[in-house]
Amino acid sequence: MAIAIGTFQILLEGKVALITGGASGIGESTVRLFSKHGAKVIIADIQDNLAHSICKDLGVASASFVHCDVTNETDVENAVNSAIGKYGKLDIMFNNAGVVGTLKPNILDNEKSEFEQVISTNLVGAFLGTKHAARVMIPNCRGSIITTASVSSTNGGVASHAYTSSKHGVVGLTRNTAVELGRYGIRVNCVSPYLVATPMTKDFFKLNDEGVSSAYSNLKGAVLEAEDVAQAALFLGSDDSKYVSGHNLLVDGGFTIVNPALS
Ligand code: NAD
Repeated sequence: MAIAIGTFQILLEGKVALITGGASGIGESTVRLFSKHGAKVIIADIQDNLAHSICKDLGVASASFVHCDVTNETDVENAVNSAIGKYGKLDIMFNNAGVVGTLKPNILDNEKSEFEQVISTNLVGAFLGTKHAARVMIPNCRGSIITTASVSSTNGGVASHAYTSSKHGVVGLTRNTAVELGRYGIRVNCVSPYLVATPMTKDFFKLNDEGVSSAYSNLKGAVLEAEDVAQAALFLGSDDSKYVSGHNLLVDGGFTIVNPALS
């Protein structure tokens, strides 16, 4: 339920959220935004020091950390169980941890081992998060599961073969699970950003004379920031989106609908 304080609407009061990859970039922004909106947040990540310092910043009553490698089912199971142990429930699961892999445009240069590593983190990690969140949400007959996909979930040629495959995959996972879990009142969605400046993408960005990256320039006058993606996750996690499920919410300034022939 939303609570208004002055003109500020608190959207997640009383909710418990688990955020994988919450120690950095889009995940960190989402941890901070969810906390500002009243949620108790658990960061699940492999970067312990970064996560601990965010928790310290937000206060132990608002945020906690569990070391979790999303490719490891025991870790994911423990992370979900820690939310139940600490707060008694899980309302929002945000499968956000991801890796980008090396961009090698020619498939002949791509190694099976790196392909598997990207799929394992981005797709298998989201599967494990979705599975274990469903395990504890089904008895409560409510919950919101969100996965960070990408514009590479709809378009080819933006990133590596492995990354594109993994992000198309999480949309399929989301749709299948949304159909299945709808009967339990559980919503399952994706959020799909265009390029955001985070540690993951630091090598993609070349600043022009005005200090604005060319990669930002799809929507004139607007710069996509991690918090814009966090705001989309906030919408999908809150009751404001109570009838939205199986959806892939693009936060791309129109990137995926541009006809290259016209631009
Ligand atoms: P980031 O590198 O800043 O954050 C990724 C986080 O995931 C890090 O904290 C990292 O420690 C964690 N992580 C990586 N592997 C993990 C594992 N095995 N187990 C647990 N945690 C792990 O990058 P970001 O840009 O914030 O990326 C977040 C998500 O957004 C990813 O899924 C990424 O694919 C997606 N995305 C990013 C962009 C972008 O332009 N930055 C665009 C579209 C989608």
